[in-house]
Amino acid sequence: MEVKFDDGACQQAGECVKGLPEVFKVVDNSFVIDTSKATEEAIRETVAKCPHGALKCVD
Ligand code: SF4
Repeated sequence: MEVKFDDGACQQAGECVKGLPEVFKVVDNSFVIDTSKATEEAIRETVAKCPHGALKCVD
């Protein structure tokens, strides 16, 4: 599974980085998603919490 990020839709609500900081993080001002750091279920739950639909799981 991969997570797609829509830069234009993100409103920096921070639900992803607060919810699963080991996967969703900002490194050198760039948003990084490391899907190897949590279970697929945990990642899917966090993706579903994005209030702006900026994250999508792609199989
Ligand atoms: S939860 Fe969604 S809107 Fe908020 S920072 Fe993450 S991707 Fe952006």
